[in-house]
Amino acid sequence: MGTSEPGTERLQRWIAGHRRVFALTGAGCSTASGIPDYRDDQGEWKRRPPVMIQAFRAEDAVYRRYWARACAGWRRFSTAAPGAAHRAFAAWETAGTLWRLVTQNVDGLHQRAGSRAVIDLHGRLDVVICLGCGARTPRADLQTVMSEANPGWQSVAEPAPDGDADIDAAAVDAFVAPHCERCGGLLKPDVVFFGENVPGERYEAARAALAEADALLVAGSSLMVYSGFRFVRQAHEAGLPIAIVNRGRTRGDDLADLKVEGDVGSLLTDAIAARVPAGDAAR
Ligand SMILES: [Zn+2]
Repeated sequence: MGTSEPGTERLQRWIAGHRRVFALTGAGCSTASGIPDYRDDQGEWKRRPPVMIQAFRAEDAVYRRYWARACAGWRRFSTAAPGAAHRAFAAWETAGTLWRLVTQNVDGLHQRAGSRAVIDLHGRLDVVICLGCGARTPRADLQTVMSEANPGWQSVAEPAPDGDADIDAAAVDAFVAPHCERCGGLLKPDVVFFGENVPGERYEAARAALAEADALLVAGSSLMVYSGFRFVRQAHEAGLPIAIVNRGRTRGDDLADLKVEGDVGSLLTDAIAARVPAGDAAR
């Protein structure tokens, strides 16, 4: 920091200087796709904090509210398209120097843009698991079940992070929440809720990938969630170069060798395009 060199050029040089980059991405990569971020530029909650796993399991009202909001927000979430940041990462992977992509997002948009070497750190919203019997079912199927169980139910919904929506209390009260068709158990999207840990095997896979990387790039995350921040600490302790691209401050700024502020999609698109000249992507 502190030089007058434009961010894109510094980022381009940083990317060109490494052969096995471990990238960690967050909500800032998906905001352009219409999926809002939880936090503002200062890393503070923009709105009511998300549901905690303990309350989700223990309180009927919390469970019902979660699924009412999820039902209302699904169409918007499921029709979101990959944006510039997702496409830039896919192009970078094709170019061969993006080693592994670990995302805190649960929207699957990196994969839909063409990325392959992805670890979904916090899971995926398009799969539902039963907390009783462990059955896994497509989230899209559950949408049909919820619609049939709530004929005529609708609400004016504002989209919110993680595929849910802000809806009014009366609509929540009227909503019939879904349960497992096999065992009657509670259903939960296959994502890591606040208050839950990342599954150990998944975390170890990401940790091992970082151990084999030669640099860490963070894109579109404030790093306020420890499950993401700990990779920055691991990289720092291993002496790896760290670059952060984000709009606003992050918890990792003091550990970064390069911090570029601005729109993640356009910054990465420009930097990767410079790194990967047209027609050179298959090299
Ligand atoms: Zn079940």
